[in-house]
Amino acid sequence: MTASLPAVLEHLRSIQFFMEMREENPFKIRSFRAAREELKGLKEDELAQFIKENRLTEIKGVGKGIAAVISEFWQTSTSADLRKIIGGWPLSLLELDELSGLGPKKIRAVYEQLGISSLAELEYACLENRLVELSGFGQKTQEKLLNEIENIKARRGKILLCDAIDETREFRSRLPKEALFEEVGALGMRHEVIETLEFLVEDKKGFEAKHLEKLGLKKSPGKREVSLKTKHGHSLKFIHVAKASFPIHRVFLTSSPEHWHSLESAARKKKLLLTANELKKSDTILKIQSEQELYTELGFVFHPPEAREYAAEKSFEFVNPESLRGCFHAHSTYSDGSNSLKEMLDAAKSRGWEYFGISEHSQTAFYARGLKDADLKNQWKEIDQYNKKSAPFRVLKGIESDILKEGDLDYPEKLLADFDFVIASIHQRYGLKEMTDRIVAAVRNPYSSMIGHISGRLLLGREPYRLNYEAIIREAIATHTVIELNCNPHRLDMDWRHLRQACEAGLLIALNPDAHSVEGLDDVQFGVWMARKALVAPSQVINTWPLKKLLELFSKQREKKAA
Ligand SMILES: [Zn+2]
Ligand SMILES: [Zn+2]
Repeated sequence: MTASLPAVLEHLRSIQFFMEMREENPFKIRSFRAAREELKGLKEDELAQFIKENRLTEIKGVGKGIAAVISEFWQTSTSADLRKIIGGWPLSLLELDELSGLGPKKIRAVYEQLGISSLAELEYACLENRLVELSGFGQKTQEKLLNEIENIKARRGKILLCDAIDETREFRSRLPKEALFEEVGALGMRHEVIETLEFLVEDKKGFEAKHLEKLGLKKSPGKREVSLKTKHGHSLKFIHVAKASFPIHRVFLTSSPEHWHSLESAARKKKLLLTANELKKSDTILKIQSEQELYTELGFVFHPPEAREYAAEKSFEFVNPESLRGCFHAHSTYSDGSNSLKEMLDAAKSRGWEYFGISEHSQTAFYARGLKDADLKNQWKEIDQYNKKSAPFRVLKGIESDILKEGDLDYPEKLLADFDFVIASIHQRYGLKEMTDRIVAAVRNPYSSMIGHISGRLLLGREPYRLNYEAIIREAIATHTVIELNCNPHRLDMDWRHLRQACEAGLLIALNPDAHSVEGLDDVQFGVWMARKALVAPSQVINTWPLKKLLELFSKQREKKAA
């Protein structure tokens, strides 16, 4: 594959960036910048010609060294210069250079002190308040960076579910209440990452004239579909349909092919014909006034839009936010949360939960102010006092223990034994080949009650590490170890696509908000959606269990694994 002109420019920019990071000779750095400016004025075939004829140095600003880099890159898509200058640094650091608030010096600081090497990691660290105390940063810088990252992400054209929901809420508030306007497509189905926000709207010529302008969007001629962009650059699509077809069409536009096919064939068995717009019995159109009615008519339990991934079920109980009796995985100001322990506990209690598991970071996670023995003793004292006052509400003492290099947990056994539960998570050294072995070792540890954010993915940012899920799930089921469904909308990890089969085989999961603030507790809603997608039965979700059963599970795990 031959390189392109934009790829050459990007390559030169990479070299220049890493030279800046290493504080190389400023003159040399400037020469790369100057060469890039000149090359920008060329056409691609002109550059190709220069390379072919070995005349690159005839371009103004291109010396021998840079000419060699370009020729080598043109042929091999890399260069010795880049390899040398980059050393052990990750190439993804370059992403951080897009932010105007960061220069090479600050990029080095966040990399060396917080282990941040990509935009998504930086965003996540900001959301977890980690920049506030870093020297040269602070609350203001953190906010500015978050804002800028938001804009960069929007330019890339994809949007996280949480942001799509926020945008939609904003729209809705500007539309009159009676306007028929429903989320469909990936947004309606609650997919983790969305490309186009799709809405079903009533087929009245007036809809656009009446409403689109209110949304700050331009009118368009009366097509069945209207595609537009929001001011943030996200794609929007409005699909028009007659009011009578609304419920069936919404089911159609929120169903996977497998789900829709199961509805169609159920209709056929009943001698009915289901199309995207109507349900017919010979020539009569049956009146279907709601999505529920369609499911009932076809002999199925109602599936909410997010649960339309697999074939429809005759009967099934879906997980509900109300069916959760409590939750685990939350941080307070003891580690890197932004609310005090008391504020977090009060918030959990006021939700009507029966129990709440707090789990700060462990000692290795220094960048997140992981807890040392003495901090733990203080926290436990505070929890004991709280429990005394608030019974029967119960706070469980937990920890999010780092999984170390070989899969060990981060405290001595004697201390681990004193926690009510332990979440074992990987926070460092993502690149290792033996990730599966590390996690399996953590599953086998007698003190691990759960495994946190198993794949390490950050949506729209960091790829999940490659894991042998089958091996991990097998071991988790055998040892009754729970796998977390991290409900933070940047993670949603373990991916729901692995959950259906695993839970049917006996895997237990926990819907864990990984909350770093009181508001973060609301993220359990995202987990509920993902669990519904995967048709996970409530019995497999331990937060639906009563406290006594939970405590029995945690001690059963230890006995089983110690044996
Ligand atoms: Zn974590
Ligand atoms: Zn956490």
